[in-house]
Amino acid sequence: MIDSLVFIYGLVLGSFFNVVAIRLLNKQSLAFPPSHCVHCQHRLQALDLIPVFSYLFLKGKCRYCKGPISPLYPFGELLTAISICFVYKKVGLSLELIPSLLLTVLLVISVLTDIRKQLILDIVTFPILGGLVISRLFIGTEPFWYYMLGGLVGFTLLLFIAIVSKGGMGGGDIKLYAAIGVALGPMLTIMSLVLASFVGAIAGLLLMLTGKLKRRQPMAFGPFIMVGSLISYGYGKVIWNWYMSIFL
Ligand SMILES: [Zn+2]
Repeated sequence: MIDSLVFIYGLVLGSFFNVVAIRLLNKQSLAFPPSHCVHCQHRLQALDLIPVFSYLFLKGKCRYCKGPISPLYPFGELLTAISICFVYKKVGLSLELIPSLLLTVLLVISVLTDIRKQLILDIVTFPILGGLVISRLFIGTEPFWYYMLGGLVGFTLLLFIAIVSKGGMGGGDIKLYAAIGVALGPMLTIMSLVLASFVGAIAGLLLMLTGKLKRRQPMAFGPFIMVGSLISYGYGKVIWNWYMSIFL
């Protein structure tokens, strides 16, 4: 019961994050104008705004002009719902839910802006990074300095990769990783990057083999950062123990 409620909240939040991502990318106000079709400007009604279902029900087309609706809308809604359920399952109704939800919100919005315009926005990252630092003053199994060290490790690692790869990693990724570091601490941050690179490499290979991605064509790394960070947050210690038991 509570799980489906969390999922539904996640869908609704996700449809809000879609709006946040698009309007911040376009430097528009979050409150005005009200939701409208990008093709015919028709103001959307309640029936058009039900997460995921409206998209399926309208078969991905605007009800008024039949213009296409981006599949990124239901994607953002499902991504939010699934990731919020994931962290809720991991930490339950505890104080740790605060930093974990801050991290999830940051990851979701970053993925949505990264996929659309290959940008991760400071205006999203900085306030949430600040919230994470404050929450880590009071919440966590490790001392405060440990999480700050995580932020430093995340920032430095990505900065190093950005310099070595000569622009393969943007400034947005570097700042995002500082925030991930504060949420995860240094160990899980390093693991999240290993996981993100691993999943990213496999996905890149599959996309190239199927011809959906050309060699040297840039690929948004945000989605893999998200997958790596959440797996590391949820299962990092389990993976680490398993790894050590095999190799030591
Ligand atoms: Zn329309």
